[in-house]
Amino acid sequence: MKPAAELVLKPGKERSLLRRHPWIYDTAIGRVKGAPEAGHTVAVRGHDGRWLAWAAFSPSSTLRARCWSFAETDRIDSAWLAARVQEAVARRAHLASASDALRLVFGEADGLPGLIADRYADQLVVQFQAAGVEAWREELLDALVAATGCADVFDRSDSAGRTREGLAPAFGIARGAEPPSRIAIREHRRRAWVDVRSGHKTGYYIDQRDNRELAAALALRSREQQRRPVAALNCFCYTGGFSIALAAGGGGVMSIDSSADALALAQENWQLNGLPRDAGQWHEANVFEALRALRADGRAFDLIVLDPPKFAASHHHVERAARAYKDINLSALRLLAPGGYLLTFSCSGAIGVELFQKIVAGAVIDARVETQLLRRLAAGEDHPLRMTHPEGEYLKGLLLQRL
Ligand code: SAH
Repeated sequence: MKPAAELVLKPGKERSLLRRHPWIYDTAIGRVKGAPEAGHTVAVRGHDGRWLAWAAFSPSSTLRARCWSFAETDRIDSAWLAARVQEAVARRAHLASASDALRLVFGEADGLPGLIADRYADQLVVQFQAAGVEAWREELLDALVAATGCADVFDRSDSAGRTREGLAPAFGIARGAEPPSRIAIREHRRRAWVDVRSGHKTGYYIDQRDNRELAAALALRSREQQRRPVAALNCFCYTGGFSIALAAGGGGVMSIDSSADALALAQENWQLNGLPRDAGQWHEANVFEALRALRADGRAFDLIVLDPPKFAASHHHVERAARAYKDINLSALRLLAPGGYLLTFSCSGAIGVELFQKIVAGAVIDARVETQLLRRLAAGEDHPLRMTHPEGEYLKGLLLQRL
């Protein structure tokens, strides 16, 4: 075998590698030895020549290489990759009783930078978001099929991230048969239809599983404490995951989304769960405006969920996003009945937990309501955060109660 090409870092740039951070930017590289192509495994060396990591080379991206391993004796081959896939799948085995919609591989967190693999019942859905995993596409697909016993894999590598890696979007069957137009999944006691072709991400917001379960528990708790049905509001409802959870309160659930398609599927999901038709109210509207209109109507709710799309696409958008988060949180707090709960989220990676809490605190001050923070929330265990890669954190939430 010919020796791997090498990336020699500029002086001082080995520091983040020594902390096992997996990303190497173009600006950190002093010299490329050999002629690596996209996805080739390269040895990363410090300025002084010492070996640091094995990484996948990505010539088109400013994120020029992503590390596979910090152990020099590792050989990055199909067996090594299959072991990483197998371990990632095995680590999630205990979650199967909670749901059959699970994230099986979460990129950097699982040591497979840029690879997403989700399971919906017996269907797998993948995203190859970096040159490294793209180069090992067939081997990784084989490994996923072997680790799960699922024969059908659909490729949703149609997200924007691929362009930065110099990869064309990919969409279609990767293994096995065409997926059904809808797949029924189970999440705790609830069910949902998932469309893996046109749904957001790979079809569904798997990451909110635990928080939907919390919403159901809070709805039930409020109903017992208040001895009356709970009035609930779900903003940015998408296909109604939180709406169905909130129905545990036994009262009306109002759901708002700007997408007619999402609302249509949400209503079918409501029916799939056998919920009374008249208990669900569905509004195709802009949440920013709808919340103001509800206030003007003098409405109040015992439980409100705010789960907006990513307002800050990058660090450049933080200020504008902060204003948007404050706006919806302020409006929601004004609609919250005394004793009521607010579940508020941000999935913007560029907005950290602390900043998000500050923004929501600002909304609390302006709304002139007293609230307590009862819990900080995050994505489920199938979306772990690799401690050496803090950039992997994105979903954060707060559970507030109005006093
Ligand atoms: N809570 C959902 C996921 C929300 S995804 C779940 O648990 O599955 C964000 C949703 O916000 C999308 O469905 C999108 O259509 C909707 N959306 C985006 N901007 C909006 C706006 N300004 N007003 C209303 N809905 C919006």
